[in-house]
Amino acid sequence: MRKTIIVSNRLPVKISESNGEYNLQPSEGGLATGLGSIYREGNNIWVGWPGQEISDPKEQETVTKQLRKMNLLPVFLSQDEINNYYEGFSNETLWPVFHYMGVYARYDQGYWDAYYQVNKKFRDIILKIADPGDIIWIHDYQLLLLPGMLRAELPEISIGFFQHIPFPSFELFRLIPWRAEILEGMLGADLMGFHTFDDTRHFLNAVSRILPAQTSANVVSYNDRAIVVETFPMGIDFEKYSKLGSDPEVQKQMERLKENFQQEKLVLSIDRLDYSKGILQRLQAFELLLQLHPEYIGKVVLYMIVVPSRDTVPQYKDLRDEIDKLVGNINARFRTLAWHPIQYFYRSFPIETLSALYNFADICLVTPMRDGMNLVSKEYVASRNNNDGVLILSEMAGASKELIDALIVNPNNIGAITRSIVEAINMPKAEQERRMKAMRTVVAKFNVNHWVKLFMTRLREVNEMQQNML
Ligand code: UDP
Repeated sequence: MRKTIIVSNRLPVKISESNGEYNLQPSEGGLATGLGSIYREGNNIWVGWPGQEISDPKEQETVTKQLRKMNLLPVFLSQDEINNYYEGFSNETLWPVFHYMGVYARYDQGYWDAYYQVNKKFRDIILKIADPGDIIWIHDYQLLLLPGMLRAELPEISIGFFQHIPFPSFELFRLIPWRAEILEGMLGADLMGFHTFDDTRHFLNAVSRILPAQTSANVVSYNDRAIVVETFPMGIDFEKYSKLGSDPEVQKQMERLKENFQQEKLVLSIDRLDYSKGILQRLQAFELLLQLHPEYIGKVVLYMIVVPSRDTVPQYKDLRDEIDKLVGNINARFRTLAWHPIQYFYRSFPIETLSALYNFADICLVTPMRDGMNLVSKEYVASRNNNDGVLILSEMAGASKELIDALIVNPNNIGAITRSIVEAINMPKAEQERRMKAMRTVVAKFNVNHWVKLFMTRLREVNEMQQNML
């Protein structure tokens, strides 16, 4: 029977170790939820790195057996591979360039070699299980070479590829020394997907300028094959966030928030630690708010969660230090005996706490410099069952193309962010409701299951079209 193979850098699983035994728990991320309807079915399977170095062959065998029961197939990576392929080429080369932060990128031959080798490692594992009639759906920037590597071995197999981060304009992409190899790798797919029309257009432009390929509308002709490139904005599990509001634990935490912030307006900010998220500029905008509007002192609180991430990389460590410093300065400058302007947490929280905050916050402030989609903004909207609350959203986030009823800001324009916070604080309930209802309709309809169905259906159609052309 025809099976579907999902491939991503990380498997949707959390591994913990106790007394020399591995404990495996399915993880609850949005992608895992959306793709759950696929990989858990029949003999379908998800291939990826289990998220931890396991070097002992016996332990690898035990973990493989355990994962097999969950329809997961591990690709084990050595510490060296994790350092060079994942933290190196993926996160220190591709990530900054694709997020328009070219100055942060490191172009290192050793990183590239490891990236190539690990993509090959994924290929070899997939070749052991793939049959010519199967469908392979590959995810994200860690595996850009994999579609081409698989295509060379299995010319007839159906391959879809989705990129979850932005695809930059040609002027940024051309900086990468291995730009042609990367595009050739991607073009091994039959269907390529991006979050926004701009990403799609940038990809098509890069292909036509770098490779001897023809592009017409959204089809690339390359090596006697036709590759379809389209836009599929990813959604979230709307129902889950909408329903969480009535969970007893969430209710309890909301009560506590109410007790602590009775008089204040709560402005919520949630991101992973990343220079693409615009955290410093957001803090500057909040500082400007308190400076220009002393009437808000004691009346507004910025509740800021930064989830630790990649903090062994120097730029991330520096960013963390700068955030610590700025938060400290603002708190020291404006605090009163009874009130702190910023409640800052450098840690992650369980989903119940996030849901309580989404439900409670008057304003959600999401101002990335660049973001492929940004799920936090959609989770806030999905949580607002009462149709109130205001979303302030950066025009550089993919989500801003769908959530057009948010207050849209340029994240470099500190004054504009400050003015948006003032507008949000004073927005009449009727306007909040009109905007929130419109956004909820979009997030509910274009949810993650819809996204999965759309991509898979399109992949099948593209394959039928290719069959007819033969
Ligand atoms: N998130 C989380 N724990 C936290 C804070 C956030 O799991 O303590 C989740 C959040 O619910 C969202 C994701 O992290 O689903 C962040 O996704 P987004 O697209 O906004 O940014 P990314 O981190 O993928 O760049």
